[in-house]
Amino acid sequence: MSFELDRRAFLAAALGATALGAARPAHAQRVATSAKIVIIGAGAAGSSLANRLAARLDGAEITIIDARKRHLYQPGFTLIASGLKPAGYSVSSTSDWLPRAVNRIEEGAAEIDPEAKTVTTDSGTQVSYDYLVVAAGLKLNYDQIEGMDVGLIGKDGIGSVYASPEAAEATWREMDRFTDEGGVGLFSRPATEMKCAGAPLKYTFLTDDYARRKGNRGKTEIIYAAHSKSLFGVPIVNEKVRMLYGERGFDTRYEHVMKAIDPGRKVATFATPEGDREIPFDFTNVIPPMSAPDVIRNSPLPWADKWVGQGYVEVDQYTLRHNRYPEVFAAGDVAGVPKGKTAASAKWQVPVVEDQLVAQIAGQEGTETYNGYTSCPLITRVGRAMLIEFDYKNNLVPSFPGVIAPLEELWVSWLMKEIALKATYNAMLRGRA
Ligand SMILES: Cc1cc2nc3c(=O)[nH]c(=O)nc-3n(C[C@H](O)[C@H](O)[C@H](O)COP(=O)(O)OP(=O)(O)OC[C@H]3O[C@@H](n4cnc5c(N)ncnc54)[C@H](O)[C@@H]3O)c2cc1C
Repeated sequence: MSFELDRRAFLAAALGATALGAARPAHAQRVATSAKIVIIGAGAAGSSLANRLAARLDGAEITIIDARKRHLYQPGFTLIASGLKPAGYSVSSTSDWLPRAVNRIEEGAAEIDPEAKTVTTDSGTQVSYDYLVVAAGLKLNYDQIEGMDVGLIGKDGIGSVYASPEAAEATWREMDRFTDEGGVGLFSRPATEMKCAGAPLKYTFLTDDYARRKGNRGKTEIIYAAHSKSLFGVPIVNEKVRMLYGERGFDTRYEHVMKAIDPGRKVATFATPEGDREIPFDFTNVIPPMSAPDVIRNSPLPWADKWVGQGYVEVDQYTLRHNRYPEVFAAGDVAGVPKGKTAASAKWQVPVVEDQLVAQIAGQEGTETYNGYTSCPLITRVGRAMLIEFDYKNNLVPSFPGVIAPLEELWVSWLMKEIALKATYNAMLRGRA
């Protein structure tokens, strides 16, 4: 092994335990119960929780409902869309991550009745529960951008890193072409809550970096259309990104929300306080409005007065227990909490749900709480990233204080994303991190 590979392997091992925040193994103490537990969603949060509950409970009947056969490692999409990994890098089989002791229903959940404590699947099967954990992630609403369709991704300068690994790969082909030819690169984010709010920013930085590496930045204009008056929800990070955007020569426009796209004319229309504005593009990374999946949005579980129309589950932000249905919990992107739509957040939320749920079964009070931990390796160029970690109070909460400075563009933070994150994510899926 070369020194370089040796060094990378060592760092990967050293960082692996903490790439999503410090390591947190499953509890050992087992609790006997005949409780029926239903988990909706076998993604990052659902698979991790299924493993932890199976390890923790003796005799529980645990059922996980999810139609998706492919497990998608979504943090890998940015690397695929940057030509650094193939589409297969993010794909595995859902069943590979689930423990044998858990019943799997390979269907979507179609209806939730929290009064009757039942979930009805797409085929009409009714599953009753004593405890329900909603971990259904969120839904990409491409149809809310007039003229947009996932079938357009990879054509006419239209990319979208979010839709799937294949869409990310098609986006890379468009970005590669664009950074050869030059023109206007148009980047934006939706006005809704979204998963990994750093991803739109990363991809803008990466496109700029490729144009520079190819010597074509001079014939490339980069426009970033922010949905609000800021670029990122954490003020100190927003300030840093604003400075970097200025240094990199991006044309930042605020309070611009994409509402329509015309692939023929290669023009996107944005709603702004001054009315609609058209921006022509040669390449764009479309990021759609997002919401909770329909089954959640149309159930009695969402907040009535927060994230209206987006359908996020009304849970206490610390215990992740539903405010009106105490036997219901939420984890991952679908949880209606003020921060936390990243896999790193799921890693911290899942042990809290485990603790609170198991304590409730045992007739005790849970002790674990979620502090809003969210982490985003904010890539600023190939080989450099800022490891941004923060909590509900917008405090920066670095996992390596004094070692990795959160607001510095570092190679070690890049390694977190490129190498260590996937290993930690996989350990999380198995309930081991
Ligand atoms: C481009 C991109 C980059 C990202 N980068 C990072 C990063 O660098 N770091 C980071 O920590 N996070 C990152 N994330 C975010 C991270 O991937 C998500 O926050 C994480 O996957 C959330 O886990 P989850 O379990 O809530 O949802 P998911 O992992 O999406 O799983 C949700 C599951 O619910 C299922 N489901 C949906 N509807 C139903 C239904 N009706 N019935 C049953 N099942 C249903 C789905 O099929 C899916 O399997 C990124 C995401 C994207 C898209």
